[in-house]
Amino acid sequence: TKDSVKGFLRRNAFVLFTITAVLLGVILGFALRPYKMTYRQIKYFSFPGELLMRMLQMLVLPLIVSSLVTGMASLDGKASGKMGMRAVVYYMVTTIIAVFIGILMVIIIHPGKGSKDKLHREGKIEQVQTTDAFMDLVRNMFPPNLVEACFKQYKTQYGTRVFTRTILRSSNVTAGTLANWQASGPENVTDTPENVTGSLGSLQEVLSFEETIPIPGSANGVNALGLVVFSVCFGLVVGSMKQKGRALQEFFNSLNEAIMRLVAIIIWYAPVGILFLIAGKILEMDDLAVMGGQLGMYTLTVIVGLLIHSLCVLPLLYFIVTHKNPWVFIGGLLQALITALGTSSSSATLPITFRCLEGNIGVDRRITRFVLPVGATINMDGTALYEALAAIFIAQVNNYELDFGQIITISITATAASIGAAGIPQAGLVTMMIVLTSVGLPTEDITLIIAVDWFLDRLRTTTNVLGDSLGAGIVEHLSRHELEAQDCELGNSVIEE
Ligand code: ASP
Repeated sequence: TKDSVKGFLRRNAFVLFTITAVLLGVILGFALRPYKMTYRQIKYFSFPGELLMRMLQMLVLPLIVSSLVTGMASLDGKASGKMGMRAVVYYMVTTIIAVFIGILMVIIIHPGKGSKDKLHREGKIEQVQTTDAFMDLVRNMFPPNLVEACFKQYKTQYGTRVFTRTILRSSNVTAGTLANWQASGPENVTDTPENVTGSLGSLQEVLSFEETIPIPGSANGVNALGLVVFSVCFGLVVGSMKQKGRALQEFFNSLNEAIMRLVAIIIWYAPVGILFLIAGKILEMDDLAVMGGQLGMYTLTVIVGLLIHSLCVLPLLYFIVTHKNPWVFIGGLLQALITALGTSSSSATLPITFRCLEGNIGVDRRITRFVLPVGATINMDGTALYEALAAIFIAQVNNYELDFGQIITISITATAASIGAAGIPQAGLVTMMIVLTSVGLPTEDITLIIAVDWFLDRLRTTTNVLGDSLGAGIVEHLSRHELEAQDCELGNSVIEE
């Protein structure tokens, strides 16, 4: 009837807007592609999307700190210890299952056919030592200067990694347009027009520029991992201070409340931003021809692996533990999943994930406040699956036989690499170097898969967000007794007061 249709529309307005936005974005992107926009035009065009990214990232820092401090302080030491343990066990178990699925898929489907010749290669990459990368991961957990950690990424001991990426464009590039591109960014376009003039006539479309990729554990210039570690410890201490910690608890509580109200406003803009993010990316991407052959098979393998993990394993696990319907849960989460797809960043999606879980699904705040920020920073099932799968694919194209021990090494390093990867676009590609070096595969072969990584990144980010969210549901269910006990206690103390 009319009223129930209206009710349905009202309740699901955001989700419907967002789905429409995704579809429109795809249509618009493909419709405008034939016009071969320049780099600068595409940047103008995707500006509304860039703004969404910035608005979400703006909220991440206060959100992470205030949720973790209030989350930890609101539980007593024993209860938060138990909840923390459950969350960590969940993170580990699901990540290991994800790695296993990735390995299984790439071995069964076998997308790499023992030759690199037919693969399209982009740029070169600098060598990274596995130990350095591991040490960085741990270093980032302890930022020496908290204020600096809020706005600056922690410096690595071995400097910033630089990607040299070559963009292939089908448009004709004259010295003039090239100069234009260089003037308009991406920041360090290295080739001067003179350098490529030689190739301008025949191979018109090559432009290479350097892209600095942030180090693992640092999102958006924020050292998220370090802030998570600090906030958890700080929250525990504030909680243990009882009366004396009250003022701090109240401060962070109301900060958290205020941020969530900002999220409620920004969420209205999200569909617009997502539309332009997606359309802009479609305009910017290489011609789909690169997807042919091995790379196409590789893409397919990753998709199958991610689908199995997201649509079978995780929902099943949720059902087994909670006996509740996972699809209802996932339905309430759609907005966050689509945002993950649009932004390819689990940390930028975090504000929306919070809202879906607390608002639509009704997960207890004491749980979400801990599980979501920590999950967005260290629990990345999609990334783990992807890194293991990609490493073995690279071995396959190199005709490199991996023995059982090496496959185990890949599983371990892929798990570590997914923990170290920040929740920002394509961070997984950088930490993959740890995986490749650990078994002696050539790190520059990462360039073989760069052409499709932006796309696969979006999919694995969606899996990451799904994993964090279902984790919150599972941990809530397992912690229900402690939560109830605390509710009673709180009730009593209110009566006493
Ligand atoms: N973009 C992913 C995320 O934010 C990380 C990755 O590159 O795998 O979850």
